[in-house]
Amino acid sequence: MLQREKTKQFMVGDLPFGGNNKVYIQSMTNTFTKDIDATVAQIKILTDAGCDIVRVAVLDMEDAKSLSKIIAQIKIPLVADIHFNYELALEAINQGVDKIRLNPGNLPKREQVEAVVKACKAKHIPIRIGVNSGSLPGRALPTPELMVATAEYHVEILESMDFHDIAISLKATDMNLMIETYRLAAKKFPYPLHLGVTEAGTAFSGAIKSAMGIGILLHEGIGNTIRVSLTDDPRVEIQAAKEILKNLDLRDKVPNLISCPTCGRIQYDMIDIAKRIETYLLQVNKTINVAIMGCAVNGPGEAKHADIGVAGGKGEALLFRKGKVIKKIKEADVYDELIKEIDNYDDSIVEQAI
Ligand code: SF4
Repeated sequence: MLQREKTKQFMVGDLPFGGNNKVYIQSMTNTFTKDIDATVAQIKILTDAGCDIVRVAVLDMEDAKSLSKIIAQIKIPLVADIHFNYELALEAINQGVDKIRLNPGNLPKREQVEAVVKACKAKHIPIRIGVNSGSLPGRALPTPELMVATAEYHVEILESMDFHDIAISLKATDMNLMIETYRLAAKKFPYPLHLGVTEAGTAFSGAIKSAMGIGILLHEGIGNTIRVSLTDDPRVEIQAAKEILKNLDLRDKVPNLISCPTCGRIQYDMIDIAKRIETYLLQVNKTINVAIMGCAVNGPGEAKHADIGVAGGKGEALLFRKGKVIKKIKEADVYDELIKEIDNYDDSIVEQAI
């Protein structure tokens, strides 16, 4: 297990947050928040995919007044994302949100910040301060020092009101800038950090960029929540986030697909099967290694730590469980047989693969 940075801890809804607690996956809806049905439907999809905390944009009072109806229908903590308007923040708090994202320094009057802080204190609601590389004061060129100083400005306002349930994000579009900024922030602040490469791009390049930026920091023990921002179906964000956490041993109950790159020994159309199985595994919440290998020469050997797997033969495949071949199956049946094995697999039984 990776050593986590010590940070302040508090609750976000019913989730213990910060310090050595679980690293949570966050996402944000892209529906109009006032469209309650659509927002709830999207949050349910995200929840089923593995999202732990969800953020919604609150643009006006109608959005703010929709929040309790949304909260009543969902199972994960809700964060209200608010800019420049303390009345929206007060209404969101009143509606029962679990966290607000608001930069106190962007509110025009100190009394307004005081009113929000008082309301948050009364309900034990934390505040996330969010600094983005593209929206620094004066449109200044982003540097780690400037981004951290901008966060510090907001943090000090809250601290001056004896408010310390603070989370901070310092997202940048540039991965190296993002890494250096969070490293600096981890040294500077005792608060939990929400990690993300902002506007990372589409599923392929964005997931790689995010996995590197977020992954490097998590490996150093930095980061308490993560968001993979992708221009794609929000479910893909969750899938990518789960992959990052799983590969760092920061999340269990996520399947792992092992598949060979194929070579001249390949005996069947395994690329198609591997892709279909990967899609199927998205809704499986088990700690399971599934191997799909191109040939029987090296397949079972290479995938001997898999819980379930296949290795191709001519028009057929060998099905193996925990490293042992259990039967031969026809190529046409490989997908269905694997699904059956995955469904029947009980990950609570610890058995050593051979
Ligand atoms: S499992 Fe077989 S087909 Fe796949 S890479 Fe290894 S040797 Fe090649």
